[in-house]
Parts: sequence; structure tokens; C-alpha cells
Amino acid sequence: MRYKIKNEIKENKQYLYLSYLISILTIIPQAIASESNDFEHFIFLLIVLFVMILVSKFNKLLFALFIIYMNVTNIIISHIYMHWGYCDADIGPRIEVSAASPLYETLEYLKTYIDYRDILLFVYTFFVLFLLYKLLVHYKHSFKIIRFLGFILGAAVIAAVYYYYDPFEYEEPFNIPNKCITAEGHSQLYNERTKYLASLQQEFKQNDHSLYDKIVVIQGESVNKHHMAIYNYDENTTPFLSSLKDQNKLYVFNAIAPTNQTRYSIPILHTKANVHNFSDAFIHSRSIVGDFKMHRYKTYWISNQGEAGEHDSSIASMAQEADVYHFENLDFMTAQPDEVLLSYINHLQNSSQKEMYLIHLMGSHADYERRYSYKQILFKEPSNVAEDYDNTIFYTDYILKSIFTYFTKSFPSQKILFIYISDHGEVVSEKEHGHGYLPPFKDEYDVPFVIYSNIKNSRIDELYKNNKQGVFNLENLNYMIEYISGVSDENNISYSKDVFALEPKNIVDYNKLPFYDKKL
Ligand SMILES: [Zn+2]
Repeated sequence: MRYKIKNEIKENKQYLYLSYLISILTIIPQAIASESNDFEHFIFLLIVLFVMILVSKFNKLLFALFIIYMNVTNIIISHIYMHWGYCDADIGPRIEVSAASPLYETLEYLKTYIDYRDILLFVYTFFVLFLLYKLLVHYKHSFKIIRFLGFILGAAVIAAVYYYYDPFEYEEPFNIPNKCITAEGHSQLYNERTKYLASLQQEFKQNDHSLYDKIVVIQGESVNKHHMAIYNYDENTTPFLSSLKDQNKLYVFNAIAPTNQTRYSIPILHTKANVHNFSDAFIHSRSIVGDFKMHRYKTYWISNQGEAGEHDSSIASMAQEADVYHFENLDFMTAQPDEVLLSYINHLQNSSQKEMYLIHLMGSHADYERRYSYKQILFKEPSNVAEDYDNTIFYTDYILKSIFTYFTKSFPSQKILFIYISDHGEVVSEKEHGHGYLPPFKDEYDVPFVIYSNIKNSRIDELYKNNKQGVFNLENLNYMIEYISGVSDENNISYSKDVFALEPKNIVDYNKLPFYDKKL
């Protein structure tokens, strides 16, 4: 028997070598991706390699399917590893984000985040599949005993792996189809929340204590405060805000965002949801828009982010609480720079009624070059990513000025409050830019938080004093807005350093995070 096995090996040397080569080349990308931070998964991949080699002995077709599957998942996993840093917790939410997004948003992503590294990976994958093609077409084997042994051993290892690892549920790359099927985005949250809000009584509150006629909350996007002149950046990116600050008319706060993902951050900022309680608190609370409505404000949700992308989403759920909701775009691909909102705002009916606005900008979301117009530009010919990004900050400053001018000119005798914040920050460097890294960087949480009030308001002064004691976590922004507006007496300031990355289960201590190293 031993002799026969030896003989079979000798006869099929070329087939064996080629199948080993294909298997090893196939496992390398995923092994590299997991090696640095997940040793257990690395061991799992070695077992997978062993199974691949066994399968090649008894069934060529099965081997081919196995290799093709592994190579397709190589592209997904390596892409995430190269652009975002890899760990197991990472892949589910990323697939969920893309599965929940309509096609154009996915295309936008591809356009922004596919670069030469992905092209190299494609070439590599093509080469491995070419070797596989060679093996299938040009190499036959004459295994008999080895074929039988391969089958027995292969089946035993697969059964053991299945039993111990439950790979379709937990282990990359076998859990990817499952993740795709179960990725429902936020539609379940949306449904439960809609039901809960419908069950609430419309309890209008007496509104004797509200201080303002107009409350304007401007929700920025992907703004890293270290790129704003009012936060000591050395480029003059915020001329309008800086002039208010110089006249002592602007409160500039130090704050961190609760998370680095839009779809979690917007709900946390504007409902009772917070870092340690997302789903339950989000489902079971009105947003500030709903709260102000109960205080007899007419409420608006005006957005330059895509309606289609937010359909059934956590954000759509909040927008629909408003008396008037207006989405400027259907999708990200057609999103124009934020000035499109100005013509909508400028055509609003002037009203003496109390009103509350939530204006959701596209702000500094990638692609940066598509977020500003050439009329309002700091660097005429941006020569790097940072200059391009600074143009978006500069342009947003112009948008803020325009919104400010509209309200102060249209309602000269009314009491007006402006608040500007961002959902999260942004990593801005030549090599990498974006948000949603895991592990994350401080750059993704350092956001602006500024307030302007055209009346004296001791509650803002009090908050400002509190802010000198410690940086605010914007997880309780909703309380602070209602407090300074006078509709609530509880400011519930959060000084917590807990934030999460990508999804609620990845809570990290902000203080322990590094800044992104631009020299890398
Ligand atoms: Zn965002």
C-alpha cells in the first residue's frame, strides 16, 4: 500500500505541485489580512488550506469551485484590509452597509475607494485562476488510493471544522453569504420605531419657557475640526465662523462624536440613543424634531443627502417626524454641492410662527472635489487630498454664512439660535482618507460644535463654562439643544470618553486612540 501511494505521488508529481501552488497562492491574501491581529483565525485558515489540498485529490470540480470561491472572497477581504484595517468584527457591518445601500451609493464607494492596490489584487487573482484553468484542462491525475484517503480525511476534517467553528456563521470567508442574506440595514429598527412613534399620543406641551422663535440645527458631514480655522487650523478655511468668533458672537465648544458612522451618529445626536444604548433607546424615543413639534414648533428636515439611500433607514425614520421633510436628491451620485439647499431655504414661506429646522448637509463627504463649487474655493487648483478637503470646509463655511444671512435678514426681530455640528470627523491624508476605520483614529471623532444666539442666554454661558472642565461627548446633544432652547431643564451633559467604531458592539476609549499617522 505504501509503495502504491508512493507510486501514485510519483506519477502525479506535476498535478500535485500545481495544486499545492494554487492552494497556497489562494490562502495568502486572507492569511496576510488576519495574521497581524487574529492568530486564531490564522490557524483556521491553515486548516482550510489543508482541506483544499485534500479536496484536490478526490474531486477536481469541487476543488475548482472551492478555489474560485476563496479567490472571490480574497478580493473583498483584502480590499477591507488594505483600506480600512481588518478584524473579524469588521466585515459584517461593511457588507451590511453596502447591501443596504442602493446601487449608486455603492458605485460612489467604488469610485472613491478602488485604487492601484485593488488592481494589483485583481491581477493576482486572475493569475491564480489562470493556473487553476491550466490544472483543469491540461493535468489529469491517476489517484486511486490517495483519492480515497483524501476523501475520508477531507470529510473528517470538514466535519470537525463544521462542529468546532460553525464557519458559515462565524468564520471568514464562509460566513460572507450568510452576512449578505441577513444584512437588513436598519430597516428593522425603522419598522419598530415607526410602530412605537405611531403608538405615542400626540401630547402637545405647554410652551411657555421656550426662548427662541427660530431654531436652526445645521448637521454637518465628515468634518474634522482640525481643518477649521476656528479650531486653530493654519489655513483660513472658516472666514465666516472666524469673524463671528472674533466678535465674540460664537461659542466654540470642544466635543467628540459618539461614533464614526453616519447612520448611527445622526440618531445618537438627535434622539435619546447613546453609545451604550443604541437600538432600544433609539426605537423608544422621539428625535429633537419630534420633541420640538410637541412644543408646538413647526418642524423641518431639509437634507442634501440621498433620500433613496435613507429609505427605510434610521435617518428617514427621524426625518418623517418633521412637519415638512425635503430631500434634495434621490441619491449620492447626483448630489450637487450644498448650495442647492439655499434655493429651497430661500423660497420658504416667511412665518412668524415658532419653527425648528434640521438642515442635513453633504458637507465634506468623499468625493471631496464634488462637494464644492468653483465660485467658493480656497485652493483653486488643489494639489493634494488635504487641499481638496479644505475646499469642502471653506465651501461649507460659505453655506453656513448663507443660511445665517437668510434667517437673520428674514426675521430681524425674532430670537434665533444656530447650532452647527458634524456627525463624525474624517481621516485626511494622501494615503488614506475617509471614516469608519477599525480600529479607529481620533481624527474620526474630533468634530466641531458651535452655537450662535442673537439673544443673551445664560444657559449657553453655563454650558460653555462646563466645557472648560471637559470635552463633551455629543451622544447627549439632543438634551443640550432642548436645554438651551428652554424647553427642558435637564442638560444631561456627557463627558464620557466611550465612543464606538462602525457598530455599537465596538466600544473604545477615545483617550486611548491614536491620531492617524500621516507619515505612514
Ligand atoms: Zn457621515
